[in-house]
Amino acid sequence: MAEYQVAVLPGDGIGPEVMEQSVRVLKAATTSSEHQFNYHFGKIGGAAFDAFGEHFPLETKSICEQSQAILFGSVGGPVSESHLERWKNCEANSILALRKTFGLFANIRPAKVYADLAELCPLNPRLVHSGIDVIIFRELIGDIYFGEHCQYTDNQLRQARDIAHYDEKQIADIAHKAFQAAMLRKKQLISVDKANVLATSKLWREIVTEVAKDYPEVNLQHMLVDNCAMQLIANPAQFDIIVTSNLFGDILSDAAATLPGSLGLMPSASLSHSGIGLFEPSGGSAPELAGKNVANPIAQILSGAMMLRFAFSMEQQAHSIEHAVEKTIKQGIRTVDIALEGEPVVSTSEMTDKIIENL
Ligand code: NAD
Repeated sequence: MAEYQVAVLPGDGIGPEVMEQSVRVLKAATTSSEHQFNYHFGKIGGAAFDAFGEHFPLETKSICEQSQAILFGSVGGPVSESHLERWKNCEANSILALRKTFGLFANIRPAKVYADLAELCPLNPRLVHSGIDVIIFRELIGDIYFGEHCQYTDNQLRQARDIAHYDEKQIADIAHKAFQAAMLRKKQLISVDKANVLATSKLWREIVTEVAKDYPEVNLQHMLVDNCAMQLIANPAQFDIIVTSNLFGDILSDAAATLPGSLGLMPSASLSHSGIGLFEPSGGSAPELAGKNVANPIAQILSGAMMLRFAFSMEQQAHSIEHAVEKTIKQGIRTVDIALEGEPVVSTSEMTDKIIENL
């Protein structure tokens, strides 16, 4: 029997209550497998600050280092309290520190519009009636964010420049992750760049085309980022998997995040070379909902499914959780964030009960 160690970092706000539900679902989905999961709880964010005086204490780092996956809740307090010591730089000290410590280079963000929740999508229902299911693979540690940033005055003119840089390995690494995911889905991949202008994009296109030779079954297409932005609004159902650079991925994945209608539905994953992955909801700590048992646990539960798929190659169990979520939505079970006016709502734990029933 294989034994797996999972670091569980619930964090702040709704983190602890949705995390509890995610672990319940993971336990239910993996009981009959030949793998044993050991969950090790650690503090992060404001919760860690209270106990250790810092947002990402050594004790938490050590729990993560001894694990194969990190299940992360969310950190941060009310935006109006962000000046307080407890919350100052909380997100950067926690999530960015984790990214840096573990070299998380591939960010994966699905944006799924369930046909039964099409009315939540801000787009015309005509575009959404059969659902949208796109996953964006974003390179996370290269590009313009990590090059030289410089602001200066020359010729009495204030000027600035930011350097974008990629090497072929960085591009190939994220491309392989996206092609591997495409093999598990529709075998379609759209690579997004700005190869008509940028040198980094020309290299991007060259390398992605080379990597494609390892995946002859996958249909690769290239799309310019400006066209992709338009297509995500005009015809989002055409996309299955998108792979793109850090800057374009940042913008496109936030645009795609508006489609499902609630952050409570949206999981994400970040992968490293060493094998450890971080799995977390796309949203934040929603402090106004904390402690009320009303938050939507689906984003955290689907983050657990992504963990099974990407950290432990347990595709069948990951799929069974996703299927149970879809079935629960189909049955009309709604937390308050996804309920239409007048629809009955369930609590965080009741939503999870139904999902476990449907597993
Ligand atoms: P937020 O994502 O917490 O909330 C935005 C909106 O989405 C709110 O209306 C909230 O109620 C709703 N929402 C989010 N998750 C939900 C869920 N599971 N169920 C139902 N509704 C949900 O963003 P914010 O309000 O801008 O930030 C709150 C705090 O979260 C801040 O301290 C911010 O820094 C932090 N934050 C943390 C992360 C992270 O931990 N990765 C990410 C983003 C924001």
